[in-house]
Amino acid sequence: ESVVNRIAAGEVIQRPVSAIKELVENSLDAQSTSVNVVVKDGGLKLIQVSDDGHGIRYEDLPILCERHTTSKLSTFEDLQSIKSMGFRGEALASMTYVGHVTVTTITKGQLHGYRVSYRDGVMEHEPKPCAAVKGTQITVENLFYNMTARRKTLQNASDDYTKIVDLLSRFAIHHINISFSCRKHGAARADVHSVGPTSRLDAIRTVYGASVARNLMKIEVSENDEACSGFKMDGLISNSNYVAKKITMVLFINGRMVECSALKRAIEIVYAATLPKASKPFIYMSIILPPEHVDVNVHPTKKEVSLLNQEVIIERIQSAVESKLRSSND
Ligand code: ADP
Ligand code: MG
Repeated sequence: ESVVNRIAAGEVIQRPVSAIKELVENSLDAQSTSVNVVVKDGGLKLIQVSDDGHGIRYEDLPILCERHTTSKLSTFEDLQSIKSMGFRGEALASMTYVGHVTVTTITKGQLHGYRVSYRDGVMEHEPKPCAAVKGTQITVENLFYNMTARRKTLQNASDDYTKIVDLLSRFAIHHINISFSCRKHGAARADVHSVGPTSRLDAIRTVYGASVARNLMKIEVSENDEACSGFKMDGLISNSNYVAKKITMVLFINGRMVECSALKRAIEIVYAATLPKASKPFIYMSIILPPEHVDVNVHPTKKEVSLLNQEVIIERIQSAVESKLRSSND
């Protein structure tokens, strides 16, 4: 059984960055205003995510890392309108099958926190009282220690660190009321360091640099008709002065960081047709859709989404981008 669990866990947690995404989303779900990430050896040696959220109650600690244990879903109707990021209770459990997980947490009004380590879904010992200020710190050590082949494919630590910095950058420019940092263990300087609350443009300036922020235009679509009622989009897209080697597409749908390769391709096509010299744009978009129009369950990693009426929505966005580019080019 443990081999089956490990293989399933390896599907959910594919690389260090997937573990960090789940941990940060948990911190966001816990209403944190500050999320700090520390990484050693591209995340293979150590991942540490600290937040100042509401913490985890003592009585929830024993089952915290059991599969399908979640505090975020009670009925099937909830599943139809998932508001929080997590809803399957799978992430933490998975991490305990492929790494060593330690949780330090304190809830409001408590004089001390608790620390407890997990392995293969269960606590290794009773929670131990410890000093803590606010929120939760989760560390994952020796990720994939029991998956030799996986470790081999993840030899390049700097490659993974780049992905982690990219992930935190995306969170930082969307959640502008929250402070984020990401650094290598022992490093004095953080590689992502944004302080919320701030404006979207300032967040982008801090995280991606002034040369990106200076070349962005606001874009907005809000439409209500039968084909896609409740659809709203607002974002920032680069103008003709922004030149890059590859497209950056930061996409959030209903507050969830996702990828939609069809939409990304569609936008790239509009840029190539309208601004050939700036055909590798920077795109930030936040899309709101009725939850029943978004299928987040296509893959356990919940990254690539599929949308109901996808073609209609993509066409709307394409035409909005096109008219923005044309009007700015006049
Ligand atoms: P899910 O997020 O799908 O509920 P997870 O395995 O990611 O499942 O987390 C399990 C549970 O642990 C969550 O439902 C939540 O109650 C608790 N939890 C995890 N991380 C935190 C955190 N940083 N702060 C508060 N609670 C947390
Ligand atoms: Mg979660």
